[in-house]
Amino acid sequence: LASRLKDPSLASDRALVGADWVSQSESGKTFDVTNPANGEVIATLPDLGKVEVTRAIDAAYKAQKAWARKTGKERAAVLRKLYDLMVANADDLATILTMEMGKPWPEARGEILYGASYVEWFGEEAKRVYGDTIPGHQPDKRILVIKQPVGVVGAITPWNFPNAMLARKMAPAVAVGCAMVSKPAAQTPLSALALAILAERAGLPAGVFSVVTATDAAMVGKELCDNDKVRKLTFTGSTNVGRILMRQGADQIKKLGLELGGNAPFIVFDDADLDAAVEGAMISKYRNAGQTCVCANRLYVQAGVYDAFAAKLAERVSKMKVGDGFAEGVTTGPLIDENALKKVREHVSDAVSKGAKVAIGGEAAEQGGLFFQPTILTGVTSEMKVAVEETFGPVAPLFKFETEEEVVELANATEFGLASYFFSKDVSKIFRVAEALEYGMVGVNTGLISTEVAPFGGIKQSGLGREGSKYGIDDYTEIKYMCLGIE
Ligand code: ADP
Repeated sequence: LASRLKDPSLASDRALVGADWVSQSESGKTFDVTNPANGEVIATLPDLGKVEVTRAIDAAYKAQKAWARKTGKERAAVLRKLYDLMVANADDLATILTMEMGKPWPEARGEILYGASYVEWFGEEAKRVYGDTIPGHQPDKRILVIKQPVGVVGAITPWNFPNAMLARKMAPAVAVGCAMVSKPAAQTPLSALALAILAERAGLPAGVFSVVTATDAAMVGKELCDNDKVRKLTFTGSTNVGRILMRQGADQIKKLGLELGGNAPFIVFDDADLDAAVEGAMISKYRNAGQTCVCANRLYVQAGVYDAFAAKLAERVSKMKVGDGFAEGVTTGPLIDENALKKVREHVSDAVSKGAKVAIGGEAAEQGGLFFQPTILTGVTSEMKVAVEETFGPVAPLFKFETEEEVVELANATEFGLASYFFSKDVSKIFRVAEALEYGMVGVNTGLISTEVAPFGGIKQSGLGREGSKYGIDDYTEIKYMCLGIE
């Protein structure tokens, strides 16, 4: 890996525990990171245990106090420097990301800039953690409200956005004066370590940000819940693991930020601009090979345009190119692992066995390995697995619907409530449907909704809290109210 980088020192084979870059775990265990495009081992890292997690928490606990005493402007300067370093090293960071995760290199570079945008944004916000003054409730009382950092925050992040999912937790935490102990997914720890290297270069004090590499995620999650020095746990991943963490956090009423699964509906009404809808579907469905929590999972197309939309989409999908993320023109990399491939296969065969038709794709790609063809299924119904479960792969199931009322009901018939999308040119319908969709985010006439300036997050069983925007700061602060008695 290092030989492919302009700055080889960004490829770390050590974890960051407090102030120490650790090359060996106390248990002596290690684990390999592989490139999903070809199975090659690209790094071997220490597989840390509870001792090291606790050590990172202790270091964070100590470092946090001094970090919180700095002014917002001082913390902002560090984050600004980190942002500049991320942009300056975007090519290398993208190479590391594609190597460990598989997404096409230009897409990886896009993720780095997206992750960096949170660092820039929250650096700016560090100076604006405003409180409030409230008129006293009695003539001799004055009321002040201040916001303070929650303290030490644990963060557990997934493999699908190895840089951005961590950057958008770390940046607001550090901006307000928290310290963070993070555990990246074992498939993709190298992007997190590269971020830590740059944070160190930007002047983030030792201990404020740790990256613990470990394969026993359950152990790390348990310690982050059980250790009372940790005041908050922020997690991005599956709803199932979110439930486990919520149960484990109950004993200490641990504060939780949860970005969990989605099952995004993508609705195309008869009056939609079909070209725009196809464009939106391409971005929202096939980006990252369909492995994002905001990916269109169920595409509902109104009867009048169903065939035309399916044909236009198939035309675009036929031009996609599957392959190694470093190869020229590749739009779709490998899936992350065997389990992911198995689930995609299962969803397709389940749909076909219940009467769906494969319009394009439908099988493993000719490259073999973890590659799957971009796929469109038509004639899909609510009885099929694709209707209720998150597929997390490049499969677009097209459902046919007749009325607005019917489709809103279908779209909301899930325990998830993260992202939703619809296409229409009728302004009254736009407001009716946008307000009726039970989702934290609604894309209207667009398939791309993620930005650091807007609040990202879900309702129902898709999670708690928001990331990004002015609201994102609230997840890392506590409100304190002071009542002053005066003469
Ligand atoms: P995904 O399907 O995206 O892999 P997961 O929820 O399994 O979703 O994984 C997201 C993150 O949660 C990863 O860092 C993974 O290691 C971690 N994880 C998995 N199981 C647990 C657990 N029991 N407790 C804490 N973290 C976990």
